[in-house]
Amino acid sequence: MQKQSWVDPSRYINKIYVEESCVDLEYTQEILARAKLPWSVVPEKTKPNNLSNDYVYNLTAGKKQLFLCNNRGTFFKPCPGTREYQCCDYQVLNTGTNCPIDCVYCILQAYLNSPWLTFYMNTEQLFSELEESFKQKQDTFFRIGTGEFTDSLAIDRLTALSSKLVRYMSHKKNGVLELKTKSGVIANLENLDHKGRTIVAWSLNSTSVMAKQEIRSATFEERIQAAQQCAAWGYKLAFHFDPIIEHPHWQEEYTETITRLFEVVPADAIAWISLGALRFLPSLKDIGIQRFPATRIYFNEFIQGLDGKNRYFRPERVNMYKVIYSLLKERTVDKTCVYFCMESDEIWQEVMGFAPHEKGGLPKMLDASVR
Ligand code: SF4
Repeated sequence: MQKQSWVDPSRYINKIYVEESCVDLEYTQEILARAKLPWSVVPEKTKPNNLSNDYVYNLTAGKKQLFLCNNRGTFFKPCPGTREYQCCDYQVLNTGTNCPIDCVYCILQAYLNSPWLTFYMNTEQLFSELEESFKQKQDTFFRIGTGEFTDSLAIDRLTALSSKLVRYMSHKKNGVLELKTKSGVIANLENLDHKGRTIVAWSLNSTSVMAKQEIRSATFEERIQAAQQCAAWGYKLAFHFDPIIEHPHWQEEYTETITRLFEVVPADAIAWISLGALRFLPSLKDIGIQRFPATRIYFNEFIQGLDGKNRYFRPERVNMYKVIYSLLKERTVDKTCVYFCMESDEIWQEVMGFAPHEKGGLPKMLDASVR
């Protein structure tokens, strides 16, 4: 299936806004020099322009405008999992919000209220928060991800934050960093002495979902070629089949993806693979349909889960999970942890034949795959 190649989605950005107090930072000047784009100064604690007035309508425009500003909140905190489902104890490193890629199902459309692609410049605070957590919890094993409110690598050509993070994590024995992306932006990961403390992860899907519902992402082939290159550089890999979407020929298409993935990527480089069926806040449906009138993904039968999100009915989820799980289990090595993101013990039992607590709990299973 043909789609336009966007190995580097940061090329979509056409204007940069800089919060006044960030202008003279060396880091800001580096980003501006790499970007070679028009830029302007934004007064302290204000918005770049009036794009936020009609948020949904302006989401597309906001993806072209990069706002460099200070984070006045916390950089590092636990992932807001839900008590009702099995959670993996992930720690989120919030490096910025929004993303130049445009996935039809992206939860950020309903979750954020600011349309600009935002990157936080006060990275000393980011590293001091990390350092403080590592110091305070020396017995904890941290799995840290930057891909919760943005794509981890989509604007890395401009920010080069990945190399700072990889270097920082290379000195940490009790933690790993996961960089999760749908891009092919890996140049800054080359020649780093990462010491196995960084995992590079790609979100994958059926061939038609990747081609039609993930605008300005790298093609499937570009993603797995980038993954193969990272494995050759000694990085551990991870893959996320999330959201798994029911559509005509889903079974053939997920089979196609998984078959090709294991033709290209060495199975023993894969630390973990997650599975999660489409789930969304009810408010996302209106936004998604308004922005992508041709999409069919929201037109299915859903039930509201214990976390208030719409999900496919359980038999449908189990059916899809069973197909995908068995394709993966035929190909993965024993050490690779294949797990569900936010599913109940009953679903684990029905599909995988065990519940996480039988193996010490999901966090322990994931830790074991990288320790
Ligand atoms: S790549 Fe991730 S953050 Fe970016 S639009 Fe897609 S789902 Fe959202």
